[in-house]
Amino acid sequence: MTVAAERIARLEELARAATKAGDHDRARYYVRLARRIAERNRLSLPTSFKRFTCDDCDAYLLPGENARFRLQNGHVVVTCSCGAHARYPYDE
Ligand SMILES: [Zn+2]
Repeated sequence: MTVAAERIARLEELARAATKAGDHDRARYYVRLARRIAERNRLSLPTSFKRFTCDDCDAYLLPGENARFRLQNGHVVVTCSCGAHARYPYDE
């Protein structure tokens, strides 16, 4: 794992912890920072990162905290508290 990839993984953990603590602004800061690092290093973000972040508002999505996850026709539909939806296949 490259240094950049490790930093992204670490930022994902920090964003999750900040969201759990109710500090959503801080979580967004970590999410944005991780996206910038990925861009600068031409890395693609880990699948888990893409699944658990909102493309619209950069929130880290935590079920029961700021996001709703539900199953629909073999897809997972994620609704962020900002109102944005994302969907992806269930068994990917
Ligand atoms: Zn959002």
